[in-house]
Amino acid sequence: MTWLNEFDDRLAALDAQSLRRRRREVVPEQGARLNVDGESLLAFCSNDYLGLAQSALLREAVHTAVDRYGVGSGASPMVSGHSAANGALERELAEAVGLPRALYFYAGYSTNASIVPALVGEGDALFSDALNHACLIDGARLSKATVHRYRHADLQQLDALLAASPARRKLVISDTVFSMDGDIADLAGLHALCERHDALLLLDDAHGFGLLGPQGRGALAAAGLTGPRMSQRVVYMATLGKALGVAGAFVAGPDRLVEWLLQKTRSYTYATAAPALLAEAVRAGLRCVLGADGERRRQHLRARIAQLREGLAPGVDAAIDAAGWSLMPSTTAIQPLVIGDNDDALAVMASLREQGLWVPAIRPPTVPLGTARLRIALSAAHQPEDIDVLLRALRVAASVTAALPA
Ligand SMILES: *Cc1c(COP(=O)(O)O)cnc(C)c1O
Repeated sequence: MTWLNEFDDRLAALDAQSLRRRRREVVPEQGARLNVDGESLLAFCSNDYLGLAQSALLREAVHTAVDRYGVGSGASPMVSGHSAANGALERELAEAVGLPRALYFYAGYSTNASIVPALVGEGDALFSDALNHACLIDGARLSKATVHRYRHADLQQLDALLAASPARRKLVISDTVFSMDGDIADLAGLHALCERHDALLLLDDAHGFGLLGPQGRGALAAAGLTGPRMSQRVVYMATLGKALGVAGAFVAGPDRLVEWLLQKTRSYTYATAAPALLAEAVRAGLRCVLGADGERRRQHLRARIAQLREGLAPGVDAAIDAAGWSLMPSTTAIQPLVIGDNDDALAVMASLREQGLWVPAIRPPTVPLGTARLRIALSAAHQPEDIDVLLRALRVAASVTAALPA
């Protein structure tokens, strides 16, 4: 008997707590619809916030790029170089976010997991918002720096922790838009604290880039911390698989910080470069984001957010009011509806699914215990009718789950 058998018990324990996750096989259909295991569902589960992932624009960019560059990139950019497309993308990304230099990575998770250890190590101090994304947390662990977790968005506590730390090198890390709550960090406040305590600030703008700020230039631009008023102590990171509709990530900031990351980030040095066809797709996405089409998409998205929030406001529907669900105070495309209990959240998700909708239930450990929720992700691909369908389905789910035994 080996401890291999324990995996069956461990999986059974996940089942017992309603924590076993399942994947579906999906094929995209028209608009925000997905064909899921053969069934057509209206989806509210994608971070493709501007509806670019399926666009003709990106498809054409990829077709052209494949003809020029082929498919694979061959090796690490440090070994076989990176393509001219990747180089051009880095310059365009830096320009877009108003920072001197950018570095293009093939994925966001591994970027954060390895830039944190490149910036700080043993004896240094890290300050991390309690709701930061898993990849920042993993980067913090890998770094071996002393980690101080501060309560979500509690800048007073952060100030006190920074003041009490004897470390010479301090790094504050934060999401800009929090991925499961949809709220936006106080970047000016964070930056002011970093100035006061001589700390560096690493920001993850996965859910802000392409959406926030003038022309979608991101949360840092929205906070006025780029361009002529650029801060020397900010490392900006954003992903390219969400609003940009492709995959990958980039880091941008002052030249010396970016040059250091180029030298010391293990997921950059020891990973095969992102294929040029993806870089060309991102370049096409970026042109769209910065232009009139991007502005139209953002406006359309903002209107859908307002429509959903009006439909779920207190006093609009008795069944929703009676269910005791609470829509979190988010202004972004991430609109979490807190249900509370894991099984209740799954029951609501199941009811929506029966009605032809796919809205993911998010459970611990991704979110704190007792705050299981529907993470409603809105997109420019949603039509006004789609939001009406969702609101009607939520009302049905509220009355159905109210009838369930507690
Ligand atoms: C999605 C996400 C990532 C990971 O990026 P990938 O490119 O999907 O690996 C990192 N940080 C945040 C906040 C995210 O939401």
